[in-house]
Amino acid sequence: MSLGKQIAWADTVLPFQLDRSDVRGRVARLDGVLDTILAQHDYPARIEALVAEAVLLTALIGQTIKLRWKLSLQIRGDGGARLIATDYYGPTAQGAPARIRAWASYDETRFRPDATPFELIGKGYFALLLDQGHGTEPYQGLTALTGGSLAACAQAYFAQSEQIPTRFALAFGQTGARPATGPWRAGGVMLQHMPPASPAAGLTASANSPDENWSRVNMLLDTVEAGELTGPEVQPTELLVRLFHEEQVRVFDPQPVTFGCSCSANRVRQSLSIYSAKDIAHMTTDAGIVTADCQFCGAHYEFRPETLGFEAKEDPGGES
Ligand SMILES: [Zn+2]
Repeated sequence: MSLGKQIAWADTVLPFQLDRSDVRGRVARLDGVLDTILAQHDYPARIEALVAEAVLLTALIGQTIKLRWKLSLQIRGDGGARLIATDYYGPTAQGAPARIRAWASYDETRFRPDATPFELIGKGYFALLLDQGHGTEPYQGLTALTGGSLAACAQAYFAQSEQIPTRFALAFGQTGARPATGPWRAGGVMLQHMPPASPAAGLTASANSPDENWSRVNMLLDTVEAGELTGPEVQPTELLVRLFHEEQVRVFDPQPVTFGCSCSANRVRQSLSIYSAKDIAHMTTDAGIVTADCQFCGAHYEFRPETLGFEAKEDPGGES
């Protein structure tokens, strides 16, 4: 592949493989997509940090899965931060961007001033949901919140639910002088220890045991600094050479990511189709319409009540 010509390194996920150590990995760089997501809301700084971390994890994990529709992360807690939700839609064509969206639900009156963003979530769980689209059963895996960061929760999730040793190194924050109020940037590395293709291949590929390989690669990743993860001065390929030059790094085509929401008037209409005319009447405003706002992107939808629910009396026609 020809890396040089196609890269704007912002908003990409770069897959790579460490042949010496049977490790597959991803380097993600997000700036515009993260800023776009956060600019659609007016979240407190600590909620923004949780959303940034969740979006970064979503980009890294989403790119490892053959997706026909979407991967979602949902972090639910009993604290002031109640829900962080993200969706990742796989690319619809080779070279097309994957799309990410995110939102959060929280109760600011319950924020302790000294709490870290993660502590604001309280007790709860980290869920990964896989929806491969029409005609398939959605999959959901859960793990309890643990370890003091969303990245630690994701590591626990992969260890428990998928038995794949997984490691994340993430950095994210607002740019600019202190107090940092500039655009958000995020960057991270994900490593996964894959079983060798066959016992014979495993023996010839590496003189070391799998455990030694995994711990060596983790020690190399321990040396990474936040500025290397977020860039933009250090390119992802430079970072991989710096960290893993003795591990036989191979990189694959980068996956661009962008903001994207899948909401539409039709989808809202579908979700309201389970309601009776009486239910719809309850939702109808004094102005005689039913409104819905997309929690992800803020899009506002208005409908005539006669066109909604399973007892709809009128066809919506061209109404949107
Ligand atoms: Zn939307």
